[in-house]
Formats: sequence, structure tokens, C-alpha cells
Amino acid sequence: MKTVVDWNDIYASVRKELGDHRAGWADQLALVLEDVKHSVERHPGVFGDELPDVQQIKQKLGGLRVYTRECNQNILDELDTRVDEIEKTCEKCGNAAGIQSIQGYLTTLCCWCYNEYLEYRFDDAEAKWPRDLELDIADRFPDLVSADTASLKPSIGAGWLVLLGQFLQATEHVVRKAFKEPVVVQITDVKMSREGSIHIDFSKFDHCLDQLLRRIDLDSKRTCAKCGHRGDIVRKQDKANVLCAHCEDRGEWDPFNA
Ligand SMILES: [Zn+2]
Ligand SMILES: [Zn+2]
Repeated sequence: MKTVVDWNDIYASVRKELGDHRAGWADQLALVLEDVKHSVERHPGVFGDELPDVQQIKQKLGGLRVYTRECNQNILDELDTRVDEIEKTCEKCGNAAGIQSIQGYLTTLCCWCYNEYLEYRFDDAEAKWPRDLELDIADRFPDLVSADTASLKPSIGAGWLVLLGQFLQATEHVVRKAFKEPVVVQITDVKMSREGSIHIDFSKFDHCLDQLLRRIDLDSKRTCAKCGHRGDIVRKQDKANVLCAHCEDRGEWDPFNA
């Protein structure tokens, strides 16, 4: 494998490997490598007298990976610690961020860059989001509604549809795999509660779903109901809403008035 870091032009090397869309990480990693270079120059007794041979720099599964050929342990420890710090920031702009799976895509983006990405990918039209937007529970999960339910569309924001999809799949699995006693579940409504969490109404419910229900309740309280990024409960006079900073800033969205 070839060396990817030119120690005389660290910034350009790192930027080239990570690409312009990961400038937030590239800027920070370049600084880390500058520090490594100085450490080797100044303290060869501790860091060895050779600069590490960096073979690959990339984003993998939402994390930052820096692969080196075997080198001084103190350099490796330093790199590990500093890369862990970088991973707590947005790949694109360096804002505070955490790794998360959004629409099945593992990423470390702040809510602003994530929304910019969504707009670019779906051309500013939420209607072009994954087909989950048109989720009809009666159609996709017929075992989870009463026989006379022709159609049941959840009244929640698009940001929660992935959570809901996971819940419905897990519930369907429980219903289908129940072998001793049959488990009967009938959902009648899915909406956002005034407290800012997802609310699912059942005409038939089984307590073996308690755990799944608790999980989606908790997850909904920290997922932006509009875009699916990590969000916070925003409390207003008579109702609460879960939004990320980006969607809250946009202001105009009200799930109770959609
Ligand atoms: Zn960002
Ligand atoms: Zn949002």
C-alpha cells in the first residue's frame, strides 16, 4: 500500500483523502498530524525518530479511520485519543455531533449539515423521501390491524417513520412467532402526543409488547419528528414537540396543524 500523507503538505494530503465534504474532520486531523510531526521532531526519545507511515484515511460506518503501518506505540495512542475527539464532531463542518443511523445511513453530521444533505439528496422535496412516507399500516402490516381496517396512515412527522417501521416489524415478528398462546395486536391510531412522544392506540394489546413500546416511546423523545436527526423535546404552552435545532429554527412546522 502507498503512503497517503506527505509530511511536507499534511493539510492537502488529508483533505485529498477525506474529500471536501468532510472538511470538518480534515481540518482537525491535519492539526493532529502536525502535532505528531512536532512531537517526533522534539521528543524522539518518546515518539521515536520516524514519522508514521499513514496508509489510509477514511470514514467507515460513521467513524474516522486512520490506518498506519506498524509504528511507535506513543504515536498510536496519541492518534487514537485525538481521533476519538474528532469523531464527536460533524464530518462536514466540525460542529458537535454524534454518530447515528439516519434513514439507514450511518453518519456523524450535525443537524444543519444533515438537513443540507437531505435537501441535496431529495431535491428539497420531503415527498421524495423514502416511500415510508406513504406508510399504510393496514397495507404493510395487515396482521397488526383489525380485519375491517382498510387503511391506517400514521399522523406523525417523517422523522419518526424509521422508528415506527422498526417497531412494526418487531411487533409483527412477535405476533407471527407466538407459538404457545396466540398474540393478538390491533393498532387503531398512531400520532404524536401533546407531551412530544409517539402515541400508539390499540384496540387489542398484549403485554409482551411492553418493552418494544417503551423503547419507541423513549426513542421518539430524542428523535427530531421532522427530519429524523437527534432532537430534543421543545416545550410550548400547551404542547411539546421533538425537534433538532435546524428544524426548530425553521419554525413553521406544526405536526398538530399539518
Ligand atoms: Zn455540520
Ligand atoms: Zn430536524
